[in-house]
Amino acid sequence: MSDVLRPVWRTYDPRFEANAIAHARAGGHAVVRAEARWWLLLPSDEGMIPELTAWAMLDLGVGGFDEVESGPAAGLLKVMLPKRLREHVMDWCERDAEHPAPLVAEALDCRACAMCCRKNRVLLEADDEARWAEAGRAELSTEAFVRESNGRRTLRVLRGGDCVHLVGNDCGIYALRPDNCRAFPAGSEGCLGARAEVR
Ligand code: SF4
Ligand code: SF4
Repeated sequence: MSDVLRPVWRTYDPRFEANAIAHARAGGHAVVRAEARWWLLLPSDEGMIPELTAWAMLDLGVGGFDEVESGPAAGLLKVMLPKRLREHVMDWCERDAEHPAPLVAEALDCRACAMCCRKNRVLLEADDEARWAEAGRAELSTEAFVRESNGRRTLRVLRGGDCVHLVGNDCGIYALRPDNCRAFPAGSEGCLGARAEVR
């Protein structure tokens, strides 16, 4: 079990943008809702996007952000939010309404969870299959374990949605698991979404 400190989503009227700025400076994710356009103010780690913030943007499918260069929000990251994503971020704000601070500690135990190994599509990289071949486990690249569609190779999932390598709540190929499994962080929106969906 480990405590992961994750950003809290909060929504703000543009008249109170100073509060949104303070929230983002403290590590939270702020949604500023003007009538015609919405934008996100996000924390920055010395010009770099923090890991859980980057994963939230990946979840939204948002590619670009700007660092605010001047004014009260200088140094924060700003993303204009397309209309199609408004409902999505409002769901996160609603979920987080009970958390008063910009960050919240989530007690997450991956060994007792494994939700992200269920109903998930794990994209394979060339390095993953090279690692398997080197380890004498070339069979992991065969179609018993890998599905190929439109040139993309993904781990096969069983009828109920479990990853083909899941054994109980454990990964059956833990030392050789794909890079995308290694990179996936507990406490990310993908993690919280997987836990909510399977629950
Ligand atoms: S869904 Fe989150 S808590 Fe559960 S196993 Fe995956 S990363 Fe860990
Ligand atoms: S390979 Fe292992 S870590 Fe990755 S999804 Fe499958 S069971 Fe989970």
